[in-house]
Amino acid sequence: MEEPATLLADIQHRIATAAKVARRQADEVTLVAISKTHAAERIAPLIAAGQRVFGENRVQEAEAKWPALRERHEGIALHLVGQLQSNKAEDAVALFDCIHSLNRASLVAALAKAMDKAGRQVPCFVQVNIGAEEQKGGCAIADLPLLLAEARAAQIPLAGLMCVPPLELEPAPFFALLAKLADDHGLTGLSMGMSDDFDTAVTLGATHVRVGSALFGARG
Ligand SMILES: *Cc1c(COP(=O)(O)O)cnc(C)c1O
Repeated sequence: MEEPATLLADIQHRIATAAKVARRQADEVTLVAISKTHAAERIAPLIAAGQRVFGENRVQEAEAKWPALRERHEGIALHLVGQLQSNKAEDAVALFDCIHSLNRASLVAALAKAMDKAGRQVPCFVQVNIGAEEQKGGCAIADLPLLLAEARAAQIPLAGLMCVPPLELEPAPFFALLAKLADDHGLTGLSMGMSDDFDTAVTLGATHVRVGSALFGARG
């Protein structure tokens, strides 16, 4: 395994290269380093190398790891990329700076209430089940207009759309479809692309790529 700083520079270079191909600026793309399952000792070298945006998929795990890391380092932004239970909405709003997994009306209501109570606005991506997979989180494409309307009515700050394409298929058509849906709904943010496909996602308009194993190595 390479040094974290080397891996980080390599990924940033690949993002810049993909952006250039698409005639975009590299700084239009935020690299969200997905640190789920990795201990603070593994995360600290990436912070030292300049990475500031991190993603976790479980509220409890993030609550255990990040307050201490944030005390030691300025300017950390923490993103939630996993399924969120409505009863964890208050905890999520308190801890995270962005939520990538808004997927249903009940969660719109829970998050709106939590943001109101905390007096804190947390931008949310609406997660779309882009491949219509039975087991996947995310709202069905057919339900997206209503969910967006509900989120807007509840004054949830909308960051854009998020997806995880089907594992076994070529991801590009799914990224292109997500970009089209965002455009149709006047949304600019696109959270798409993981370790195996972030270059493709950037060429198709990703504003946030979520990269875990390519930065940290395989999860145990
Ligand atoms: C784990 C995870 C990632 C990162 O996956 P890698 O393949 O390790 O880069 C991205 N997005 C979500 C929603 C995840 O759960």
